[in-house]
Amino acid sequence: MTAKLISGIEIAKEIREELTAEVAELKEKYNIVPGLVTILVGEDPASQSYVAAKNKTAHALGIHSEQVTLDPDTSEEDLLALVDKYNKDPKINGILVQLPLPKHINEANILYAIDPDKDVDGFHPVNVGKMVLGEKCFLPCTPHGILEMLTRSGVETSGAEVVIIGRSNIVGKPIANLMLQKRDGGNATITLCHTRTKDMAAHCRRADIIIAAVGVPKMVTADMVKEGAAIIDVGVNRIGKASNGKAILAGDVDFDAVKEIASCITPVPGGVGPMTITMLMKNTVQAAKMAANLI
Ligand code: NAP
Repeated sequence: MTAKLISGIEIAKEIREELTAEVAELKEKYNIVPGLVTILVGEDPASQSYVAAKNKTAHALGIHSEQVTLDPDTSEEDLLALVDKYNKDPKINGILVQLPLPKHINEANILYAIDPDKDVDGFHPVNVGKMVLGEKCFLPCTPHGILEMLTRSGVETSGAEVVIIGRSNIVGKPIANLMLQKRDGGNATITLCHTRTKDMAAHCRRADIIIAAVGVPKMVTADMVKEGAAIIDVGVNRIGKASNGKAILAGDVDFDAVKEIASCITPVPGGVGPMTITMLMKNTVQAAKMAANLI
C-alpha cells in the first residue's frame, strides 16, 4: 500500500480561505477587525521566524497584528506589565507570548497572567480545564490542527485505537484529551506512550491511528505500524544542513518506509506545521467574536 498524503499545506489553505471570508464578514457587518499581538523576548532565530510567520499569516487574512520584540534581559515584571497592557487593549483579541522565554522569566507566571479570553494559544489553566471538561474554549493550536487534519481527511476516530507517543502539555496530553471527548473527532480509545512505556512497538502495532510527538527523528519504523493505519507525524527534527544553508528536517516517523504500510500519512515538512499557525488565526477570530458577544 502507498499511503495517501495528508497535506497540511492544502488543509491549512482551505481553512485560511474560510477565515479570510469570516474576517471580511466581521468587518463588513460589524466593523470588527480581529487583533493579535505577538511578544518575543530575545533573539532566538527559530522563535524570530515563528513570530514572523504568525504576523505574515495574520496580515494575509486581514487580521490586525502587532509584533513586540523585547531585549533578552527584559525583567519578568516588565513583561507582566506589557501583558497587562494588552489584556486591557480593546483592539487586541489575542495575546501570544512566544516560548521559550529566557531562563530568568517564569513562563507559568507570564502565561497565567494572560486574560483567558485572549489566550489564543490555549495554554492558560482556565482553557486547559475547560478543554478537559469538553466546554467551549480556545483549543491549543497543534492538537486542534491535528483534529482538523483527521476530520477533513475522513479518518474515522470513533472507536479507533489511537496511540499517541509523547505526553507534553502542548501536544501529547491535549490531543489525548480531545480525542477522548464524546463528540465528532473524538470517541477514540487512547494509549499515551512516553519514555517509561514498556514495549511501545506492541502498543503501536495495534493502533488504527498513531500520533508521534516525540522529537526523535524516524523513531516510528515500518515494523511498528499496522497495515492501513493513519499516521500523524508532529515531530520536527533538524537532521542536517543543505548546501543552501537551509535545515534538513525529518519527522518522528520513518516516512519512506511507513508510507508503504499506512493508509494515510502527514509529511514533514508540510504536515502538522502549517496547521498550527492556522489554528492560531482561527482562535484569534473566535476571540474577536467572543469579545463582541457574537458567539
Ligand atoms: P517534548 O515536550 O520534548 O516531549 C517529548 C515527549 O516524548 C515526552 O513526553 C517524552 O517522554 C517522549 N519521548 C521522548 N523520547 C522518547 C522515546 N524514546 N520513547 C518514548 N517517548 C519518548 O516535545 P513536544 O513539545 O511535544 O514536541 C515533540 C515534537 O513535536 C518535537 O519534534 C517538536 O519540535 C514537534 N512539534 C511540532 C509542532 C508543529 O507545529 N509541527 C508543534 C509542537 C511540537 P517523557 O515525558 O517520559 O520524557
